[in-house]
Amino acid sequence: MARSYVHEARRRVGPKRDRVRPVIERLALEHPDAVIALRFRDDLQLLVSVLLSAQTTDVTVNRVTEKLFTKYRVPEDYLAVPLEELEQDLKPTGTFRQKAKNLRGAMRLLLEDFDGEIPHRIDELVRLPGVGRKTANVVAAERGATQGIVVDTHVRRLSQRLGFTREDDPAKIERDLQRLVPREDWARFPHLLIWHGRRVCIARRPRCEDCVLADLCPSSRV
Ligand code: SF4
Repeated sequence: MARSYVHEARRRVGPKRDRVRPVIERLALEHPDAVIALRFRDDLQLLVSVLLSAQTTDVTVNRVTEKLFTKYRVPEDYLAVPLEELEQDLKPTGTFRQKAKNLRGAMRLLLEDFDGEIPHRIDELVRLPGVGRKTANVVAAERGATQGIVVDTHVRRLSQRLGFTREDDPAKIERDLQRLVPREDWARFPHLLIWHGRRVCIARRPRCEDCVLADLCPSSRV
């Protein structure tokens, strides 16, 4: 986009501080079902599901965990079988060797340092093997203890298109969003962007003509 065009587009939609609330309100109406798609019944299942969701779809994770969670109920169960058996149980989720290794490492640390319970603080969660800031933010938010804003590929793309950030690095994007998004919306904001990103603001071909944010978006093509 030419510089003057970007400037003109930003001027047309107004400052991001004025747009963020209407963006959230419209997306909440548009996607009332925007919640996490992973299925889990307790904190351990939540952690395992999020760990397995890297580089695969939530549908695949749910299919695998449906059986997995009947076999592995507590952290000790993941350590009680040979590594190869756990790998086979995770196989359909892809990168299963790494995931099995991380899962076992996470379970070992949970038992050693946290009495087998999932910690609440982000700085404790990220100590678990395979748990980065994004995973930790998802786990914390789903437990009602939101401490940050989840930035995945959809959140990054939509935040950039909406002019909420000029950054590319997820940590810097999260920092920009934390300054902009009202604290009470930190948990639902990423879900709204993720569902809008899947359904309307698609990566390769955004459907701006069908988008409820078109008049608030500097990247709108209509
Ligand atoms: S107007 Fe277009 S680019 Fe902007 S959020 Fe909607 S679909 Fe995405």
